Amino acid sequence: MQFFANFKMNHTRASTTAYIEQLESELSGVAIESVSVFPPATALQKGSNRVVVGAQNGYFEQSGAYTGEIGLEQLQEFEIDTILIGHSERREIFGESQEFIAKKYAYYKEQGFHIVYCIGEPLSLREQGEDALFEYLYSQFDGIDTNYEKLTIAYEPIWAIGTGVSATVADIELVHKRLKEKFDAPLLYGGSVKVDSIEQIAAIESVDGVLVGSASLNAKEFAALIKRGLGV
Ligand code: PEP
Repeated sequence: MQFFANFKMNHTRASTTAYIEQLESELSGVAIESVSVFPPATALQKGSNRVVVGAQNGYFEQSGAYTGEIGLEQLQEFEIDTILIGHSERREIFGESQEFIAKKYAYYKEQGFHIVYCIGEPLSLREQGEDALFEYLYSQFDGIDTNYEKLTIAYEPIWAIGTGVSATVADIELVHKRLKEKFDAPLLYGGSVKVDSIEQIAAIESVDGVLVGSASLNAKEFAALIKRGLGV
């Protein structure tokens, strides 16, 4: 079981450093496949013994005239080789198109990054039935090489992100089953995963891990969620 923490626009450099130290200590002695945190760009730093630090975003260039962005050079300074691409907040709030996302994906694939690639539908799509739902979800793979060996897919229904309402086991199974038939990559679920729901979610066969937002912001609570997910 893999665990990923998306801090979004929360935490500072100092609090991220303290978080990683605390997570390391909370998880000492726990056998865990992988745990990664994605802090904001200003808090990027080298990972620790067991905690991988990844980037929430990166432009598809080494460096250059791209105001407000960070690129490969800034990530390499901290030996970052894991990146989140396609998150619904980037798609919806920052207007990232599928074409733009595919360029990012191709670039960071070329650089050998581990890519956590997010897809997910709004509630209106869910309500239109399965054909519309899967047509929408599959369109989020346009231009994406899903055979890339360092790809992890995260299914994150938008209606479950930050709402406190996680998808039900049946909701997750419906989508994960179809994605598993189509793609070989490890598959995460994300969307209001909490310490109280992790056991149920981790027990779903097609769930290889979770991407956690709000319930990851406190290291002690995230460690508790991880331990519950692992059943230790
Ligand atoms: C996310 O945005 O990736 C996420 C899963 O957030 P939350 O856990 O807060 O729903």
